[in-house]
Amino acid sequence: MGCGAAEMAALLRAGAATIERHRVELIDLDRPIGDADHGENMNRGFAAVVSTLDTAVPETPGGVLKIAATTLISKVGGAAGPLYGTAFLRAATTLGDAAELDPPAVLAALRAARDGVVARGKAEVGDATMIDALSPAVDAAEMAEANGIAAMLAAAADAADKGAESTTPLVARKGRASYLGERSVGHLDPGARSTALLLRAFAEAVG
Ligand code: ADP
Ligand code: MG
Ligand code: MG
Repeated sequence: MGCGAAEMAALLRAGAATIERHRVELIDLDRPIGDADHGENMNRGFAAVVSTLDTAVPETPGGVLKIAATTLISKVGGAAGPLYGTAFLRAATTLGDAAELDPPAVLAALRAARDGVVARGKAEVGDATMIDALSPAVDAAEMAEANGIAAMLAAAADAADKGAESTTPLVARKGRASYLGERSVGHLDPGARSTALLLRAFAEAVG
C-alpha cells in the first residue's frame, strides 16, 4: 500500500481512536505524578484533529500532518500539546509536498518529530518523558527501513512499548513529574505511554 494523504488521514484517525479508548488510562497515569489531565488533553486534541479531517483532507501527507500539528497546538494545553504539535509540524515540514511516502521519507519524518521534541523540551533518553518511547522508536525504524513502511512502524511501536515501560523505575527529570523528584519512581510516564499507543495505532493502520 502506498502512503498518500488519505492513508495519512487514516493513521491519524486510528491514533485518535486509540487515544479515546485509553483516555482514562492516560488520566490515571498522570494522576500520581502530574495533574491527571493527559488523557483528557490528548483526547480533546485528537478529536479536534478528526473533526478537521472530516471537513477536508489536504492533498498531501505532509498537509495532513500540518493540520494535525496546528490543531494539537491550539487545542491541547500543558506540556504535551506544544510537544506533540512540534513533532507533527517538524514531520510535516520534512515531508514537504510529496504526494506519496516511501520508507526514507517516513524515517525522515520520524527523526524530525523526535528532534523537534528534543529541541523544544530539552529531554534526553532516561529523563522519563515521551522521548523515552519516541527515541528508541526512531532508532528501531531506522534498522527496519529496508523492510518497508509497515515493518518500520511495527518495529517503532515495539521499541516504543519497551521504552515506555523503561520509564517506570526512573526519576522524572522534565515536566510536572520532575517536581516530585525521587517520588516519581515507580510510575510509568503518561506521555511515553501515549507515544507508544499512537505508534502502535499507526503501525496497525498501515500494516
Ligand atoms: P502537563 O504536564 O502540562 O499537564 P500533559 O499531562 O498533557 O501536560 O503531558 C505530560 C507529559 O508530557 C509527560 O508525561 C511527558 O511525557 C511529557 N513532557 C513533559 N515535559 C516534557 C519535556 N520537557 N520533554 C519531553 N516530554 C515532556
Ligand atoms: Mg498533566
Ligand atoms: Mg496539565
